[in-house]
Amino acid sequence: MKGKRIRIKTSILRICLVILLAPFYLLAQDQVLIKNVRIFDGVNNELSSSTNLLIEDNLIKTISPNAKAGKNVTEIDGNGKILIPGLTDCHTHIMWNDNIEFLVYGAPEGYVGAMASVNAREMLMRGFTTVRDVGGPSIGLKKVIDKGLTPGPRILPSGAFVSQTSGHGDYDPKLWYLSPHFTGQIDKAYLRGWTIIADGEAEVRKATRDILRGGVSQIKAFGSGSITGAHDPLDVTEYTFEELKVIAEETAKWGTYATIHAYSNEGIQNAIKAGFESIEHGLFASDETFQMMKDNDVFFSTQFLAFSLTPEQAGMQGESANKYLIAQAGAQAGYKAAKKAGVKMSWGTDALGSLELQRMQSQEFIARSEYFSGYEILKQATSNNAELFERSGKRHPYQEGSIGVIKEGAYADLLIVEGNPLEDITLLAEPEKNLVLIMKDGKVYKNKL
Ligand SMILES: [Zn+2]
Repeated sequence: MKGKRIRIKTSILRICLVILLAPFYLLAQDQVLIKNVRIFDGVNNELSSSTNLLIEDNLIKTISPNAKAGKNVTEIDGNGKILIPGLTDCHTHIMWNDNIEFLVYGAPEGYVGAMASVNAREMLMRGFTTVRDVGGPSIGLKKVIDKGLTPGPRILPSGAFVSQTSGHGDYDPKLWYLSPHFTGQIDKAYLRGWTIIADGEAEVRKATRDILRGGVSQIKAFGSGSITGAHDPLDVTEYTFEELKVIAEETAKWGTYATIHAYSNEGIQNAIKAGFESIEHGLFASDETFQMMKDNDVFFSTQFLAFSLTPEQAGMQGESANKYLIAQAGAQAGYKAAKKAGVKMSWGTDALGSLELQRMQSQEFIARSEYFSGYEILKQATSNNAELFERSGKRHPYQEGSIGVIKEGAYADLLIVEGNPLEDITLLAEPEKNLVLIMKDGKVYKNKL
């Protein structure tokens, strides 16, 4: 009897709460009406005729010339300008804003995080609403941005790199390596989430699981030498096919995919055969290798700006400057071969090392304009990248709507541009001047209209 009375009381209480809170629920449905814009939808090489978009909370609800504002709707008049999806970058290192040895071994962790939040805000204000972060401890920053506490792009994090001893992720500048395997000393790069040094099938399996455990969207491994590595020469191939196969196998079991930093032709081929779904850089890929990428539906994630500078502009000195010039020649030959083979191209920058270099991100639009039309580049930076991000499957952190396209039900990640980027893509290289509206997740971050 007593139990029944309590149950009746709680039901009455619940009904009262619903009645009291109902008006707040109605108000919580934030609506924004963007009027009179022509749309590039991220996919098709054409602009819509003048239309309106109704945004409810964080999604695009209606696209129609008849979409009208109800009561309490914020209205933005696009004045006939062009609306495009928020830009995406598939190769960032959002945490990497200083010399890597300093970040890993010297800097206070607060410095790393604070610099990254500055970088994240600036990226968003350049129009980048989603990035795939291919290495570095960005999961904490992602959480703070997703909570709406600090401005920044959506992040698909990779967490720590998987690298072999002496490989590209072996940042320890000492010429001897205090392997935990032999000495019990753990590298700070591991403790701070930058890299895991793993050798042999058992270790790479554990390293991959360890990184997946942290909630990453995909795995990033190092499969060849590099320009800036502390130890590895440019021409070397890293990891064996068997080790790479284990990494790809573990990520597939986790419902996502692995991507690889690979310059050497052998490293790229090993990765494709092992089941990697994205090749970063791919500088020395042969025609046969590009055909393998095409046949296996592997994304070619290369960077144009990063290899179109002079060594000085790229901040390279000494041996690194020589390596840079060799890499540049390979990169430029590769763009043409990739285009000829018809491989899927994503859009990424790999700008890293300082906030000044990060700020060159938008210059990638100029670097690509030598090789592609405005439409091709804009598609790469929106729906192509989004297709790559979809490879994360259920580990894709943003499941509510689509990214990189403008359609009903997609995330309201939107930009309004001054001028027509399909005709002049270099407009996007000056975001401060030419982006007149920046909206991410339905929230306005810039409005000059
Ligand atoms: Zn990179």
